[in-house]
Formats: sequence, C-alpha cells, structure tokens
Amino acid sequence: MTKTKIWLSSPHIGLGERGYVQHAFDTNWIAPLGPNVDFFEESIENYLGDGVHVAALSSGTAAIHLGLKLLGVGAGDEVICQSFTFSASANPIVYLGATPIFVDSEETTWNISPELLEEAIIDRMEKGKKPKAIIAVHLYGMPYQVNTVEEIASKYDIPVLEDSAEALGSEYKNNKCGSFGDLAILSFNGNKIITTSGGGALVSRNVNHKNKAVYLSTQARDEAPHYLHSSIGYNYRMSNVLAGIGRGQMEVLSDRVDARRANFTYYKRALSQLPEIEFLDEPTGFFSNRWLTCILTPSFEIREKIRLALLADEVESRPLWKPMHEQPVFKDTPSFLDGTSSSLFERGLCLPSGSNLEIEDLDRVISIILTTISK
Ligand SMILES: *Cc1c(COP(=O)(O)O)cnc(C)c1O
Repeated sequence: MTKTKIWLSSPHIGLGERGYVQHAFDTNWIAPLGPNVDFFEESIENYLGDGVHVAALSSGTAAIHLGLKLLGVGAGDEVICQSFTFSASANPIVYLGATPIFVDSEETTWNISPELLEEAIIDRMEKGKKPKAIIAVHLYGMPYQVNTVEEIASKYDIPVLEDSAEALGSEYKNNKCGSFGDLAILSFNGNKIITTSGGGALVSRNVNHKNKAVYLSTQARDEAPHYLHSSIGYNYRMSNVLAGIGRGQMEVLSDRVDARRANFTYYKRALSQLPEIEFLDEPTGFFSNRWLTCILTPSFEIREKIRLALLADEVESRPLWKPMHEQPVFKDTPSFLDGTSSSLFERGLCLPSGSNLEIEDLDRVISIILTTISK
C-alpha cells in the first residue's frame, strides 16, 4: 500500500484567487501591469502599514537584486550578508559584481549575530572597504534582532536590506516584518507562506524607491513615444495574472499564519518531552509566522536517522539551510564565524509545515519521530 506523500510546504489556495485570475482573463489584462497588480500592491501596503510603498516583482531574488541596485551597490563593493540563509539572499550581490561578506548567526533567533556584524564592519573598514549594505534575514519566519541590528547599521551609516522572504505575517515589537529595513523584500514563491506561484516584492517607506523599482523592472523606459533608455533595465515586473493569485492569498494570510503556528504548537506539545528534540522559542517581543517548524537534535547522526525514517514513509523533511560560507560556490568568501550556523545545519531538521496539513498528517510525522528516537 502506498501512503500519500506529505510535503514540506505546499501551496494552499483559498476561495478568491480563481475569481481574480478569471477577471484578468475577462478583461484581457494578461500583462505585466493591470488592476490586479495595483490592488495586490495596495493590499500589502495596507497590511504592512507604517506608510510603506510596494513594487510587485517577478521574484524575491529579483527584489533583492533591484534593492541592492537602489542602495547603490556596484562592481567592487562589499555587502554583508547573513550566512545562515537561502542562496537567493546572497546571489544578487554577485550579479552586481560585488563581494558578499558572510556573518554567522546568534542562538536566540538563529539570525545574524549583532556582535559578529559589528566585528565584520570594523574589520572591513580597517581594510579600507566600508560595506555598502547589510542583508539581514528573518529565517523560517523568526525575526532577527531588529533594534540591535538597526543600531549598529545606523552607528556606521550602512543601509539594511531586510530579507523578509520567509516572514510575511511575522512581527517584532508589534510591527510587521517587511517594514523595517531601509528596503525590504518579500517572496511569493510556491513554498512560502502565501504564493503567486512565483513572485516577490520590494518594500520601502520612500515612494521614490518604489517608482525607481517599477521603472527598472519594466526595462527602464523613459518618457517618449518611442523606446528611450537612459539606464539598463530589467524584465522583473509581476504579471497581472499572478497578482490575481496574490490578491486572493492576501485575504487568507492571517489564516495561513494561524495554521502554521498551530502546526508548531502541535509538534512541540508532542515532541518536546523528548530530551533529544529542541524547538526555537520566541523571545519576548518576537512573533514568528512559523513558516517552517524546525527541530534541533543532539547530533548529525540522530538528525539523519529521523530524516531517513520520514523519507522511507513518504514524508518530506529537510535539513536547515546549509550556511553560505560552507557552500562550494562561496568557498573563498570572507566570513565572520563562531560555529553557530554550522552546528544548526548539522543538527537541525525542518518538518512538514504546510498550512493545509491535517492533524492525521502531523500525527504520522510525530509517530515516526517517536519510534525512531526510542529505537
Ligand atoms: C525564497 C527566498 C528568497 C528568494 O525568493 P524567490 O521568490 O524564490 O526568488 C530569498 N531569501 C530567502 C531567505 C528565501 O527563503
């Protein structure tokens, strides 16, 4: 008998999306502009609050690329980036001909370590290279130490690009993630908390940033009856069809956050009595969307035993992100490390966390883990 597969994080479509996509067809707005794009941007602006402006783009990666460009990053520059993240946080630094400088994580949030961040800034400045930007990431939905990172960034006058790809719906001191950095980015990839199948957004309190992002993402066309260009452009705008999915998804975002957080609570209740399993708690003032529920085991061997037992039962799980400083492609990159992210990678596992999982699915995952640990 084959069991149904349990996925790590699969798309979860609500009731409204089809109608908005149908509307794009009915009105022939099958284009990278149109009313769905405008309404989608507006709904994100209203949700994030704080007077932000949003440009809907083709991916979170594209948003980081344009964001770094707007912050003036160019060839030969250095950009500090949290090492413990997905490669898409760092790749756009290289697209621009700049060099990443990786910084390790701290244990209370698993995100960028403020101490090592400051150490990295001082070291690079002593070498005559002031970093052009800092990319900090709310990994798995847990906010980074927003205030401390902001204090360090403003002390040295370096802008922060807030990678909130995994953290739509998360909050820090009652403010929404995606509204903190000099610029922030969101992702609507298929595995994220809400999706447009593929998509992203750039967020800023500065309307000029939005206008510039829209301009650059639509091939940098200047005002003229013919095609006129004074800058190099990109084809990075979100399509009006996909924005229709996004409009529907924004209507169910808070349900999705509740469901992901309920998954975490359910797993934690069932598994935290095991001395072998640890969970990352929210520090005071931190609210995580719990995009993925992650567990920490005592060793690589135990983590692998659990992962393979789940796999044998058609359950998808995944080790935590392999830090960028350990990636072959970034092997010679300057890094400021204390071993935290390497240890998290070795011992940590992401459990199935979709908002569409049933209690039976969670129970199946839990029972495999309980059996594996007691063996
Ligand atoms: C998903 C993700 C991105 C990139 O988003 P895409 O929309 O897939 O390009 C960037 N950073 C982090 C941390 C992510 O998880």
